[in-house]
Amino acid sequence: MDEGYRGLRLTNTMTRQKEAFRPLDWQDGAIADADRRVRMYVCGPTVYDYAHIGNARPIVVFDVLFRLLRHIYGADGVVYARNITDVDDKINERAARDFPELALNEAIARVTAGTAEQFHRDIAALGALPPTVEPRATEHIDAMRAMIDRLVARGNAYVADDHVLFHTPSMPDYGRLSRRSLDDMIAGARVEVASYKKDPTDFVLWKPSRDGQPGWPSPAGIGALGRPGWHIECSAMSEVHLGPVFDIHGGGLDLIFPHHENEIAQSRCAHGTEAMAQVWMHNGFVQVEGRKMAKSEGNFVTIHDLLESEVFGGRKWPGEVLRLALLKTHYREPIDFTVAKLEEAARELDRWARLSPSGSLDPAQADTAVLEALTDDLAVSEAFAAIHRAYDEGRAEAALAALQLLGLDPRRAADVGDDVHRRIAARLDLIKAKNWADADRIRDELAEEGILLKDGKDPATGERITTWELKR
Ligand SMILES: [Zn+2]
Repeated sequence: MDEGYRGLRLTNTMTRQKEAFRPLDWQDGAIADADRRVRMYVCGPTVYDYAHIGNARPIVVFDVLFRLLRHIYGADGVVYARNITDVDDKINERAARDFPELALNEAIARVTAGTAEQFHRDIAALGALPPTVEPRATEHIDAMRAMIDRLVARGNAYVADDHVLFHTPSMPDYGRLSRRSLDDMIAGARVEVASYKKDPTDFVLWKPSRDGQPGWPSPAGIGALGRPGWHIECSAMSEVHLGPVFDIHGGGLDLIFPHHENEIAQSRCAHGTEAMAQVWMHNGFVQVEGRKMAKSEGNFVTIHDLLESEVFGGRKWPGEVLRLALLKTHYREPIDFTVAKLEEAARELDRWARLSPSGSLDPAQADTAVLEALTDDLAVSEAFAAIHRAYDEGRAEAALAALQLLGLDPRRAADVGDDVHRRIAARLDLIKAKNWADADRIRDELAEEGILLKDGKDPATGERITTWELKR
């Protein structure tokens, strides 16, 4: 049987192992080849504020995996769902703060529409492809209600004080993904000791809406209007778009507990399945300049700030530079996001842009060593080393096609000519000032990047001039 194994190996948080990836549709002989799909779900943003660089990381990481899956299984062979959470108490608070003159529902619509639009602009600049589907929570309330009713009917959830709660002791292996002890879970969930809970680790599936909060008819025979808890959204939306069990579920490390643990509990108990997803993948944390990012630390960097303002490192950064800087660290490792890293990424893109041919390339030309590295759990340092090697060896097309597979095109990032002219002018100033050492340093740096300088005299004026050409 064709198990769908195409050399791809991924680290599964559930087993803590790197495993050969075998998509579910290929395990089922009843599904025709043409109908087989790899199905991936990634938790998307809650739309109440600008996305920060920590939010950008899973978008970029799973965009690379999406591109790689499309390369391996064909563009029509992959379904990628990434949700938008547009019902949340943070959204309600922001709406009341920003639009006090509007009715709450109207204010909420303003906040979610504006934030979602900004999010799409930001991540398009980072080179992220749109997912196949982008479900919104408010458009899936019926599916959430149906799932909650099923959980109550199966004895996994109960009604208390107009809430519906999932009863974690009803699931014997609750906590398998995070491998936490009960005490850890109680601490990690920052459990509010609510009198209506049967067990401290029970979590909310549905809660009542009061005082003009957005509300929908409730499940489980509750008369009052209510709204869903966060975890149930992803369980319901992934079921609607990918089915009760699918291939890959991704997100940031911070979502393992409680969010993903609770998604698993809801989906498995509602569907009576052994798993929600075959492979669980998590990207590492993002720090900024060595510290945890926080508004109070003054190092809270949004994608929008990086693209459009000079607050970080005194300049604007092209999306291409941000993408490369995020991708150069392996997705499972923590990143320390620094100005120095962005400068390094900008220099690399500059060099690659100079060495790249023009025109578009066939992805089949991509350097095979890069593909081999990426299929090994997205081993990016090996992939970028192979790209450098391909450029060094004059295989610029293989290198550029591989970069394009990663969603990068160095030619978009850099205006090569401008940068070289700026540095040549700086060198001529140094020569005039007889600062030979620094002038030579610029010449040597350019040479390292494949640019040869030729000094001469302008025949008309007798002034010193410098021209440049690419080293072959
Ligand atoms: Zn989720």
